[in-house]
Amino acid sequence: MKVAVLGAGVVGVTTAWELLRDGHEVVVVDRRPEPASETSYANAGMIAPGHAYAWSSPKALKTLLKALTRDDLALRFRFQTDFGFWRWAVRFALQCTSEKAAANTRRKVGLSLYAQERLRGVLAETGIRCGMRSEGALYLYRDPAGLAAADEKAKILREAGVEVRRVSPEEAAALDPVYEGVKDRFAGALYAPGDESGDARLFTRELARRCAERGAELRLGETILDFRTAGDRVESVLTDKGELRADAFVLALGCYSAPLGRKLGLDLPIWPVKGYSVTLPIAGSNNPPRLPGVDEDNLFAFANYGDRVRLTAVAELGGWDWSHRPEDFAPMLKAVHELFPQAGDWSRPEYWAGLRPMTPNNLPILGRGRQRNLWVDTGHGHMGWTWACGTARIVADLLAGRRPEWDPVGLEPKAA
Ligand SMILES: Cc1cc2nc3c(=O)[nH]c(=O)nc-3n(C[C@H](O)[C@H](O)[C@H](O)COP(=O)(O)OP(=O)(O)OC[C@H]3O[C@@H](n4cnc5c(N)ncnc54)[C@H](O)[C@@H]3O)c2cc1C
Repeated sequence: MKVAVLGAGVVGVTTAWELLRDGHEVVVVDRRPEPASETSYANAGMIAPGHAYAWSSPKALKTLLKALTRDDLALRFRFQTDFGFWRWAVRFALQCTSEKAAANTRRKVGLSLYAQERLRGVLAETGIRCGMRSEGALYLYRDPAGLAAADEKAKILREAGVEVRRVSPEEAAALDPVYEGVKDRFAGALYAPGDESGDARLFTRELARRCAERGAELRLGETILDFRTAGDRVESVLTDKGELRADAFVLALGCYSAPLGRKLGLDLPIWPVKGYSVTLPIAGSNNPPRLPGVDEDNLFAFANYGDRVRLTAVAELGGWDWSHRPEDFAPMLKAVHELFPQAGDWSRPEYWAGLRPMTPNNLPILGRGRQRNLWVDTGHGHMGWTWACGTARIVADLLAGRRPEWDPVGLEPKAA
């Protein structure tokens, strides 16, 4: 079967790979000249079942209220007139009960564990090297009460099969020597030995190359504008370069799945939640964190890819805006300097902002669209790197009429 995968972010490329493995003819279309040039470009890089909590929770609502009056928090709000935002915000708020947050967390953890195994399989099969670190992650707390509460909260992860251990600053320093000199600046950490990190952009670009070697056609620099449908089928995709016909289509356009999905009669509740990252080269005398992790009081994440260290923060509800200014990074950089003053070469920073394709329940949208040859693999929010290899396999299985190993029931796209 000829399958057109729409989007060459980490989700589209991993889907293309799984479809090739199933013996399909695959075409990938993306408007950018290289794969992973939008949200998959410079994310935090964490593969983290040990951090798979639902963002929509009772606490999120309280933090959002604070964000209405303050601009220095990890959660930021920019007033918007777009009706689409308010519709999404109401759906998000409805997920913020304790019961829904717990149920969504359990499913997120289950998908993370399944997807992590799939990612390991793809890495083993392809031999791709993308700065992977597989020695666990440390989630740091600056005060004892916060640490105790987090330890209690982690019960839900443990029950779902994730190992999470509470460690003292001394134990954290034994795991990662970067903490040796700053043991007095935090109360302790939760250590998730199964969590990992790696460079999603490098992985995606390498995998795209292997897809091409395996016969996939990569149509890059080509913008999808519309679709032609007939009865219950999508006939073709209309792009700025012409028309692309295929037997089946997979929508994997990150945030832009929502506006383009609307043209196919779908209501995909995805809203862009912006985040920022700074990537520093690691030079001789630098002392970066070795293990990935999160400073939970300042909500900045960090990961070390061997030659570079990346620091990531902020969830900003601000609409379809990729821009960034130096002041957007200021609170994160202040917290980073407290913990990792020598993290990398500060004279050569690469600043970036990206849009997380966030759904109200923070779970992806997976399954058949309104037309019987349309499939959807999108809405991966803050966990697309963690989940991509898993959802790619799930969608490839659905397309082949097989029962997926992880059940996506309830995550199907809905009609508009
Ligand atoms: C700051 C930040 C930190 C993050 N940290 C982590 C993390 O630690 N771990 C984790 O698992 N996830 C993390 N994420 C989330 C992760 O990056 C995303 O979930 C993932 O990249 C989404 O991948 P995607 O392929 O769906 O979207 P994208 O990478 O955005 O890919 C969509 C593709 O569609 C293309 N496209 C869009 N419209 C069109 C069109 N009209 N025509 C043609 N092509 C089009 C784009 O060019 C793009 O290449 C983070 C995200 C951010 C922003």
